[in-house]
Amino acid sequence: MRTGNLIIISGPSGAGKGTLVKRLASRVPEVWVSVSATTRAPRPDEIDGRDYIFLSEEEFDRRVNAGDFLEWATVHGNRYGTLRATVEEKIGEGRQVILEIDPQGAAQVKAFMPHAVLIFILAPSMKELERRIRERGAETDEQVAMRLATAVRELELVGTYDYVVENDDVLRTTDELAEIVSSLGG
Ligand code: 5GP
Repeated sequence: MRTGNLIIISGPSGAGKGTLVKRLASRVPEVWVSVSATTRAPRPDEIDGRDYIFLSEEEFDRRVNAGDFLEWATVHGNRYGTLRATVEEKIGEGRQVILEIDPQGAAQVKAFMPHAVLIFILAPSMKELERRIRERGAETDEQVAMRLATAVRELELVGTYDYVVENDDVLRTTDELAEIVSSLGG
């Protein structure tokens, strides 16, 4: 059996990471996608336990102190973190484990798991990125501005990633991700 790899996918809000990861998971059976915990409020279409594990600030603190997180970071004013136990279990089972996390979290994981594979997803342009964020309709103007400012900061970290993939077309980009995953040793 192949040993599982830890694959981290980052990229600005609106680059289309969520859609790509879902497509990749339905295409490649060994892929398992981690569900993060967050203190952000659920969006109307989100389901607790499927999209995120939604936690209060107090519960998030408790789990930080208990050492339950593999990594965690504050992104756009909310906290997000990867729960250690399930990730370790799935890697042990030989799954290709995907974490969809921000570059701060990616750097934390890479520091103590140097074999983790880091993939950065780019939108074709900042204009297109803004269009995609607004199209989603979930954010106020102020929140859109904050997400675009975060995107500019995150883009500076592209050089620390193993692969940079431009999401110009969902089908093509899913193919590219599937190729990367199947090329990994294990
Ligand atoms: P959103 O609020 O749009 O769902 O996610 C905002 C950002 O949080 C995204 O860039 C996403 O990659 C990041 N994020 C989601 N889960 C985690 C996590 O567990 N850890 C870290 N460090 N970032 C996360």
